Amino acid sequence: MKPPVLHLKEPSALCLNRPPQFDSRHIQAFTNDVGRGRREVLEAKFRLLGKRLKPRTSMVAFSEMLPVLRAGPGRQAELQRLNAWMRGWCREEGFGFFRNWEPRNHLLQDTPKKTNNRTPLVITYSPQLKPVQHIINKLQPILEQDTKLQKALGDRPIVSYRQPPNLKMILTNNHRTYHTNTNPGTFPCNKPRCQLCPHIHSADTIIGPNQVSYKIKNTYSCASRNIIYAIMCRKCPSAMYIGQTSQTLRQRINAQKTDIRQDHKEKTVSCHFNQKGHSLNDLTTCILLQRPFTSALERESSELSFMLKFDTLREGINTHSNYLTHYQDSFPSYHL
Ligand SMILES: [Zn+2]
Ligand SMILES: [Zn+2]
Repeated sequence: MKPPVLHLKEPSALCLNRPPQFDSRHIQAFTNDVGRGRREVLEAKFRLLGKRLKPRTSMVAFSEMLPVLRAGPGRQAELQRLNAWMRGWCREEGFGFFRNWEPRNHLLQDTPKKTNNRTPLVITYSPQLKPVQHIINKLQPILEQDTKLQKALGDRPIVSYRQPPNLKMILTNNHRTYHTNTNPGTFPCNKPRCQLCPHIHSADTIIGPNQVSYKIKNTYSCASRNIIYAIMCRKCPSAMYIGQTSQTLRQRINAQKTDIRQDHKEKTVSCHFNQKGHSLNDLTTCILLQRPFTSALERESSELSFMLKFDTLREGINTHSNYLTHYQDSFPSYHL
């Protein structure tokens, strides 16, 4: 309950002539009526108020004078002196005292966390479990008699209750329902002018150069964007290139087909399909993953995890990035 507050402009008058109407057990008194020569008067008034309040209630708390806006240095100093006096006086009289001028750096000081070696015991709440605390308190001393057990178990466990399922939790479920895709894989869009459709590899399981297989979980087409994709060669089962793009698969592969046509020697995909006995018709592609990636870095890290999974840095067409194999061991449990 918030304590009743008496605005104490005239402390003695209030107390002498108009006693508070409420059953006051906790009074917070304050004033901003302080000026030159008023300190002694106010002190006297507070003393009188304290004397009158004491027989009536045992719980009185005085609040420190609040800083007065636009008060000159003289008046501020006077306030500080009155506060210092009040602090001492409250201590002497056994009154509570609220500090309002606590220095900022004092308030901002870090209080070190208390550490203990109590293990939390988390149990789902049930009224029948109420005696648990009692049982722990009763039996812990027995466990503590054994020095080995005492060392291993620490102090008595902190019992904390987990909320049991209520009607709402039983009736509703905020987990997204998992739809099993009946037709996963990448499929031709069949648009009349699409240049990519003939290159689409529509299997639902992709097998990499080192026979590692990956099951595609969703359905994609030439127009899916924000993806990790694979380029494979109809002639070489061990050739695989993993790439990423924010564009559609069609835009990305068309750009790579242009590179191949122009025989870019610095591009590994272009080099592969310009080898002897190869042509653009040998290129097949599919999407491995589509996610709401928000940055190139996110896509690249997902791309890297596929490169490591299929080992395309050593075996496949991603050899231009083979310096990344140094990091291979850093990603032993990359989840795809
Ligand atoms: Zn298409
Ligand atoms: Zn090939």
